[in-house]
Amino acid sequence: MKPELELYLHFPFCARKCAYCDFFSGAFSDAEMHRYFEDLRAEIRARKDTPLFFPSASDSASFDRFPASSLPVRSVFIGGGTPSIVPIPELEATVDALREAYRIDPSSEFTIEANPGTLTPSKLSAYRALGVNRLSIGLQSPDDRMLQKLGRIHDFRTFLASYEAARRAGFDNISIDLISGLPGEMPDSFEKGLKTVLSLSPEHLSVYSLIIEENTPFYALYGPSGSRRSELPDEEADRLIYHRTGALLEDAGLHRYEISNYARPGFESRHNTGYWTGVPYLGFGAAAASFTGVSRMKNASSLSYRSLQPEENESLTTEDLMSEFMILGLRMTAGVSEAEFESRFRKKLRDAFSAAVSRHLALGTLEASGGFLRLTPYGLDVANAVMADFL
Ligand code: SF4
Repeated sequence: MKPELELYLHFPFCARKCAYCDFFSGAFSDAEMHRYFEDLRAEIRARKDTPLFFPSASDSASFDRFPASSLPVRSVFIGGGTPSIVPIPELEATVDALREAYRIDPSSEFTIEANPGTLTPSKLSAYRALGVNRLSIGLQSPDDRMLQKLGRIHDFRTFLASYEAARRAGFDNISIDLISGLPGEMPDSFEKGLKTVLSLSPEHLSVYSLIIEENTPFYALYGPSGSRRSELPDEEADRLIYHRTGALLEDAGLHRYEISNYARPGFESRHNTGYWTGVPYLGFGAAAASFTGVSRMKNASSLSYRSLQPEENESLTTEDLMSEFMILGLRMTAGVSEAEFESRFRKKLRDAFSAAVSRHLALGTLEASGGFLRLTPYGLDVANAVMADFL
């Protein structure tokens, strides 16, 4: 395993809260935002010598340890929230702090999330000047009625204007986020909307099913006892949407490389792929998670997170690491490399998970070929149940 790391920054600022969202995000004052960025930059500097651990190439029982600042950064991801509402001077000072502390170079993937309606030509050229080379735009739906239900701040025309401005600014790697399974949505209407989005030729699409989270306005309407629950597509419609999405995108040249992610060849998200294959990452900011290779941490979900105890700080056993490697790796359509598993854990995958592998090969939810173990098309439909057997 190559020693490298990924960096994530959480910008929890939004123009207003969407009706389905339970992320740590919201509308805060300028003063609160400025204080947050001072803390964020202090955290970026303070953690540069965090030790990160990689299975030792020479000793089967140990890990090689490197300070984070010594490792090449394979990707930077600024997520939120709505990072694109943050004033450019705050972003510039934060990216300067990152570049001073870590080994970011032009080959690092550098993504910023953006919401339609918050991108201007000058902001986009500032991103380019800062080295941002990938944009992830949260459209969620091309249907204005759905966008209203979701409580989004934009309509489809606004998205189009932002997307075109990003192309004009020179962005040649754009991802669009969509949500499927929205209230009142039918497979045919979803497919029609998807075709509209595909006509723009994005390099990458993420299509996640709607999850009704507790403590959101959506929960009151569409949760287990919500008055409008019946408007949600049923299980059969949800699966039909999933299958049609895969087929349509495949025809358009975007292959599914993870359960919910699709890309043109060479445009798979390096950041997410690293996450699913066990690359260590440092997360900065409120609610941001980190993985050192042997432990996991999560900052408190508060603007004053630096003065609070982390929400999570857990050392992982070898069994935890093996389970995680399987569960995250099976999300990828390429599957889990049996050779990589053995080289990391000095144990054969089929010995470590003999019962689960035999059961799912027999059920037809897993298949083995070319030294990889992966979910079958049927396995993708019941992925959560398969993964539960690797816990
Ligand atoms: S823009 Fe994104 S992070 Fe902000 S409230 Fe909406 S869904 Fe949540």
